[in-house]
Amino acid sequence: MKVLRVKGELCTQCYACEEVCSTNVSKERDRSKSAIGIGEKAVDTGRVDITTCDQCGQCIEVCPTNALYRAKSGVVLLNEDDCVGCLSCVGFCPSGAMFRHEDLLEPFKCTSCGKCVKECAEGALYLEDL
Ligand code: SF4
Ligand code: SF4
Repeated sequence: MKVLRVKGELCTQCYACEEVCSTNVSKERDRSKSAIGIGEKAVDTGRVDITTCDQCGQCIEVCPTNALYRAKSGVVLLNEDDCVGCLSCVGFCPSGAMFRHEDLLEPFKCTSCGKCVKECAEGALYLEDL
């Protein structure tokens, strides 16, 4: 299974990853519709807080309609046809990595597609094979 990992100390907060990820979610470049979250830079360490899904799968048990599932690849995916937009998973995710947007009924999450890894010029993102 591929899992997106981060090196917050290398991030320059250019937000290129958020932009390319949003094209997955909404087919438009809109950072507010990204499944990776670039946060604040810690004053003491200089490390940027980056929110990503670690594919733990705990959200699968929370979904009342079984819309979340683990694919053969091991990655946790959302079947939008079965999602009723209750957002239980958004509130539950221990990593805060299930995202939502007011324009969209369904939440969205990282699928380990790797597009952001290619986009990051700083090497702050990588896929780990577990
Ligand atoms: S593309 Fe890389 S450097 Fe830019 S915000 Fe994302 S993680 Fe940080
Ligand atoms: S791996 Fe793909 S889905 Fe996950 S945050 Fe990066 S661009 Fe978005």
